Amino acid sequence: MTARTPKPQVDTSKPHPARVYDYLLGGKDNYVVDQEVGKQLPEASRRDSRLNREFMHRAVAWVAREGIAQFLDIGTGIPTEPNLHQIVQGIAPTSRVVYTDNDPIVLRHAEALLISTAEGVTDYIEADVRRPGEILDHARGILDFSRPVALSLIALMHFIADEDDPYGITRTLVDALPSGSVLVFSQGTADFQPQSLVGRVTHTYGKGGIALRLRTHAEVLRFFDGLDLVEPGLVTAPHWYRDTPAPADEQSSFYVGVARVR
Ligand code: SAH
Repeated sequence: MTARTPKPQVDTSKPHPARVYDYLLGGKDNYVVDQEVGKQLPEASRRDSRLNREFMHRAVAWVAREGIAQFLDIGTGIPTEPNLHQIVQGIAPTSRVVYTDNDPIVLRHAEALLISTAEGVTDYIEADVRRPGEILDHARGILDFSRPVALSLIALMHFIADEDDPYGITRTLVDALPSGSVLVFSQGTADFQPQSLVGRVTHTYGKGGIALRLRTHAEVLRFFDGLDLVEPGLVTAPHWYRDTPAPADEQSSFYVGVARVR
């Protein structure tokens, strides 16, 4: 960002996914319209948001310890400490991170995402995942695509409708990554909740103009086609852990997984 970048316009008349998520995580960067959605959501939505965020912490720390030092994070969200770059640069200070989100409010807070270690790099672009080519063009200026890159699509794809081709988008992004790269992925599911509760969640978001596309285990597994899922495979958020102690066994409506690019 340069000093000449105009202040992004934030529409406070309708709820936005980044701000509802921030509210659910207990953040302050949300407006009445977002709080109204958040308050109508079942209590489980807060727990789901926290458990999803904790999965991100564990997964990117593991990826960094595996020696991957380049990260492309799409659907970053409003900064919530620790952010991805703080975790990975805490492990490998030279890590380079490109953040992407399509919500202007995230751009407004991007300064918090751009405070890097002296040795590392963080970068932010406002872009829509439905135009993956633009994101890749930008990322190629910051990351070295001849070396492994971790692509994270965390709590993003349930905002992408089937007609926008979420599988094709993921394929385009993954195909740009060299062998040894990884995909870190999570998405909401209706597999474990009674239909009435699921209806309430999708209706509440829907009233605010946010279409939610929850997906089944089989539908989420398709995002990993052609990739090698690492242990423990595609599981719910609290069940994904590697070299850290298992977190508490809580209920979660997020499927999560990490996979290697062949
Ligand atoms: N990845 C973070 C935040 C998840 S909230 C985490 O898991 O903690 C989902 C984010 O995706 C929001 O910030 C929202 O603005 C962003 N998002 C939704 N649709 C998007 C799109 N089409 N392109 C890019 N970002 C999008």
